[in-house]
Amino acid sequence: MDRRRGKEAADVKDAKRESIFSCPVCGEALMIGEGGYRCASGHCFDRAKEGYVNLLPANRQHASTPGDDKEMVRARTAFLDSGRYAPLKEALCGLAARYAGEGTVLLDAGCGEGYYTEGLSRVIEEKGGRTGGADLSKTAVKKAAKRCREAEIAVASVYHLPLAEGSVEMVTDCFSPLAKEEYRRVLKDSGRFLYVVPGARHLWEMKEILYDKPYENEVREEAYEGFRLLETVNLDFGFRLEKAEEIMALFRMTPYTWKTPKEGVERLAEQKELGLRAEFRILVYERR
Ligand SMILES: [Zn+2]
Repeated sequence: MDRRRGKEAADVKDAKRESIFSCPVCGEALMIGEGGYRCASGHCFDRAKEGYVNLLPANRQHASTPGDDKEMVRARTAFLDSGRYAPLKEALCGLAARYAGEGTVLLDAGCGEGYYTEGLSRVIEEKGGRTGGADLSKTAVKKAAKRCREAEIAVASVYHLPLAEGSVEMVTDCFSPLAKEEYRRVLKDSGRFLYVVPGARHLWEMKEILYDKPYENEVREEAYEGFRLLETVNLDFGFRLEKAEEIMALFRMTPYTWKTPKEGVERLAEQKELGLRAEFRILVYERR
């Protein structure tokens, strides 16, 4: 990241258009120009060749790669590209289309490799709006930037979003950590928050192999402070995995990866095919 202060401030006037994002150092608006992103105070952030920008402040950069590692991103990309979760993408994009107004600015929080962001940005663009995606994992963000040419993709924490207060009309979160206070800060009044969570028996058939006593996911209709629940969309569909590596790719993108006993993982690794049911809930909230 490049943040030469001051000496290039004069070049700001050459900047082409305003970014969705704001400067992570001083909070001012960022302009996108030839050389990357700049604020009026002269803080500069290069645009990587893949098209993303790193807006993680220096004091939040970690020595090791933060966020999802390469193997996890690769597994998730392979699985999502197979189209098995396409019904979820469709449902989410359908809701975004229904709730977005003309010129809506949408932030996909924890956008990962941009599988959902790509669909969302097309819907938003049709309404003359703009889309941003933020994720802590640089590996994931690189893929997202290639996938979503029309969206602005940044390396950033969802807990410290480089966005001005009340600057977006819609926030989406697909299985990403829930930073509800931060989402509320960046949302305009009456802005919408679309939150995708697993249903009670999501991927139950996989859990039956992994665990001696599988548990159901807790299903809650949380009334988050500062938000009003407008509707809940339940979605379930079946799909079949016919290769051991596909089964393991899906496993590696679930939280079970971190908490399954070795014997369970071995049992799963022996499966040649697996029929599964995905169960999702999309919660639609209004900021108040
Ligand atoms: Zn600045």
